[in-house]
This record gives sequence, C-alpha cells and structure tokens, in this order.
Amino acid sequence: MTAPDHKLTRMERGAAMTHPIAIGIDLGGTQVRAGLVDASGAVVAHAATRTDATGGPQAVIEQIHQLVREVAAVVVLERIAGVGMAAPGPLDGDAGVTLGIPTLAGFSGVPLARLLEERLDLPVRLENDGIAAAFGEWRFGAGRGLRNFVYVTVSTGVGGGIVADGRLLRGRRGMAGHVGHMTIIRDGALCACGNRGCWEAHASGTAFAREGRRRAAMVVGSILAAHGAALDGQIVFEAARKGDPLARALVAEEAQLLGIGIVNLLHLYSPELVVLGGGVSNGFDLLHAGIVAQIHAAALAPFRDVPIVRAALGGNSGLVGAAALILEEPDANSSQ
Ligand SMILES: [Zn+2]
Repeated sequence: MTAPDHKLTRMERGAAMTHPIAIGIDLGGTQVRAGLVDASGAVVAHAATRTDATGGPQAVIEQIHQLVREVAAVVVLERIAGVGMAAPGPLDGDAGVTLGIPTLAGFSGVPLARLLEERLDLPVRLENDGIAAAFGEWRFGAGRGLRNFVYVTVSTGVGGGIVADGRLLRGRRGMAGHVGHMTIIRDGALCACGNRGCWEAHASGTAFAREGRRRAAMVVGSILAAHGAALDGQIVFEAARKGDPLARALVAEEAQLLGIGIVNLLHLYSPELVVLGGGVSNGFDLLHAGIVAQIHAAALAPFRDVPIVRAALGGNSGLVGAAALILEEPDANSSQ
C-alpha cells in the first residue's frame, strides 16, 4: 500500500487524556510512523509518511516533528512522557547515536536522540527496532508474562530482540540481538553487511523474493513467471495458497532457512517461545510446519517443543515497544 502523505486517525480521545502516554516512532527505510501509545499499549492516534530516504537526518527530523505534532494534537502536551524511537541498527542505544542506516542516506554517527530532543522539546530514547519490538511483544503481545522469549522480524532484513531471565537483553551499546548476521551457510549469499552466508542474506523477505524471481524465470508453467520483476514475497505466498508447485517449493525452502536460524536461537537462549514478526510473517500459516520440521530435525531433543508463534502486534511491535520503554524507563538514554 502506498502511504498517504499524512494519515491521522483519532480514537479514544477521552481515554488519552486520563492515562500516562508516550509517543512511539518507527523509522524505516520506506515509512516513518508515529503513534500515541497509552499505558495499556493501545495506539490512540497514528500518523505516517513516506521516509525521505535521500534528504539526510535533518529532513527526517522535520518529518518526525510533523508526525509528532499530528499525533500529539489529541492530548495536552504536558501529558506526554517522551518519545521512544525505534530505528534500524546497528545503532548505539546507550548514547542515542545512529551508526548508519543502510536504506537512509547520511545516518552514520548521528546523535539522533539529542537532535530530536532539541527539535521536539521532549525526552527522546533511541532503541534498535528489534529490541523495541521484542519489548512491545513482551509487554502487550505474544510474549506477555514470559521470562524467556526470542522475537525475530523477517522483512527487508532479519532482526531480533531477546528477553532472557525476565530482562530485555540490550548488550554492549544496546546492540544485542542482531540475529540476521549469524552465518548459517559458509560462502553463501552476499549480505548487505559485506559478509557471506548471513541468515538475513538467505531468509529475509528480500532474499525470498529474489529467489522467487530467479526460479520463476527458469520454471515453465509456474503462475509466478507472469510477474517478472514485480514478483515479491506476498505474491509467492498467494500462489502457494493456490497450490502452485514452485511457490510451494519456495515457501518450504524459506521455512527451512528460518528454521535453521531459529534452532541456533533455541540453543543460545532457551526461550519458552519464539515470536515471528515482519512482512514475511504474513505467510506464517504456510511457513509454520516447515519451521517446526526443521526444529525437529536439527534441535537438541529438549528444545523441540518450543512453540513458534506469530507476533501479536503486527506492524506495531516496534512503535508500541519504543513508547512503552519511555513509560517504563524514561531516562535510559536521555541526554539530560
Ligand atoms: Zn550480514
């Protein structure tokens, strides 16, 4: 769906006035979204725009300022505890500094938390989007009440966040959970990070679509062939649901690749649950059996019964989680 320039929905206006509230921002390569989030995790106002991917940090900061003004319009400013911002890593979540966002120009070494605080006149916390999404799912989604779970997002790339022994794992500089850069295949496909064989290079939505395009051009009779360069993961899922043999084979391979990485995570963290989010989780019903089969084939026996579920907050895990971090840990990387 193409994003309208500014979209704003307002709900539960009365409720927003009487509860603690924070703004969550989800900065992505395609869209930047803002939500006003209350203490129950409800998004009471939402606005989004297409990210100015080439304009540099100053242009993006202005976009965020505009979105914050829109979502903040439904409450008096004094009620807003701050702004939690989820962005693609690697970023220094302790210092509030982006270290480079592959899809956005000019974000290497940018003190984004401080710059936004100055522009918005509100406390700002910057967090890796995988970590923020894990927190959102822990507080309000599929991981509620658990002491150990792993969140994996599979979309343009592969990211993650971990809750271990009842704590959100942040690691040195808030960089824990870059699960997409685990090497799963020696001398495998080239990753955006420069290495070969990363989980992201083989199992991301980008890789899934690329493999679909490559194979569709080779197989006679597949309904995928008609899509040419426009073929994406969602089209493969739709074709698999219609029984197309190539699409079904692609989905089975994607499930196995996801399973290989998830087995590593089971062995590393011993979670009670693995939560799958991101655009590829739209095909969760098709992928689930293949992921489970790979776990049964490759995980140590005591790890094989860990459930794999779909994220409960959908595309809002990161936005809601970033806002929830502000409500629960407001001073984590504020520059004051
Ligand atoms: Zn990589």
